[in-house]
Amino acid sequence: MSFLSVVVAAGEGLRAGPGEPKAWRLLAGRPVVRWSVEALLSAGAREVAVVVAQDRRSAVEDALYGLSGWTAVSGGATRALSVRAGLAALSGPDDTAVLIHDAARPFVTGTHVAALLATLEGCDGAVPALPVPDTLKRGDGAVSETVSRDGLWRAQTPQAFRLGRLRAAYAAWPGASEPTDDAQVVEAAGGRIALAPGDPMLMKLTYPEDFAMAEQLAGGRRIVRTGFGVDAHRFGPGSEVWLGGVRISHDQGLIGHSDADAGLHALTDALLGAIADGDIGQHFPPSDPKWKGVSSDRFLTHAVGLAQAKGGQVISADLTLICERPKIGPHRDDMRARIAELLGLPIGRVSVKATTTEGMGFTGREEGLMAQAVVCVETPA
Ligand code: MG
Repeated sequence: MSFLSVVVAAGEGLRAGPGEPKAWRLLAGRPVVRWSVEALLSAGAREVAVVVAQDRRSAVEDALYGLSGWTAVSGGATRALSVRAGLAALSGPDDTAVLIHDAARPFVTGTHVAALLATLEGCDGAVPALPVPDTLKRGDGAVSETVSRDGLWRAQTPQAFRLGRLRAAYAAWPGASEPTDDAQVVEAAGGRIALAPGDPMLMKLTYPEDFAMAEQLAGGRRIVRTGFGVDAHRFGPGSEVWLGGVRISHDQGLIGHSDADAGLHALTDALLGAIADGDIGQHFPPSDPKWKGVSSDRFLTHAVGLAQAKGGQVISADLTLICERPKIGPHRDDMRARIAELLGLPIGRVSVKATTTEGMGFTGREEGLMAQAVVCVETPA
């Protein structure tokens, strides 16, 4: 669903200690404000108004360099004035969904956004909220009261509203006091706010120690990607074949530009697939004489290097060889050991399987053999 967004990055965030305001500090090499804006754009925001202090107008251009779909807006003296400035910069029908987000919550995702937009249906606002797990005390040095936490929630951002309703609520808000969030403004105007599932990952970077934790979370955000590869080579005259990185005596050879090791070729394509980096033919064109007769070890090693350059780490490989002959069983563990060595894996993460097609098709007629492979790679999210 299409939506608009206001990202508030105008505060100075003095509680985060000396140095740059928190929205402008680097988190895993990217300014915090960029994390938030990038996430909302990739979640489908049609336009993001990024509200910054007047003297940050050029800094925001640098921080968001290369992104499109956002506009810089000068903020006001308070958060509420900044939100109003952001809302004024957006355009759309009154019923357009608008998400108001604090830049200092960098780990917002498309999943959070989808849950909020779904919760907004039939309400005037939707707020991600978490129950309060700790016992609450009221006091000043000494406890004066233990406060029941029944029915209490911690409200996070982004908070979702309808553009017209939120603008009207802000217009009606009494100027003397400062709301603590946007939902409060809509509540005061008689609106019904629904609670959406909150997430500890929507943490707000407030204190210096929050940055240390966020840095760890940012570095630790990795996903597993899976790639699939297929290859086939034709049998021809010869006395040996290379398969799975292992030389096997046979009464035929395999025809190919390189050593025709269909097993390593399928693994290479699977690995390239997992990192979405083309295919083996693009990286090693058969038209290039440089690759004539070379050992296919080179292809797989090169693909491992490409994955590493993207911060990736191969975590497992599963190869299936499809042929009537040669028999794979006697060579299976040698292949596993060689593939494990090429991929930098313990042998327990490498599988080699074999099957026939029961005499059917080109492998059944022993015109050639086929290989299929799946490789999993852990990469930055
Ligand atoms: Mg091949």
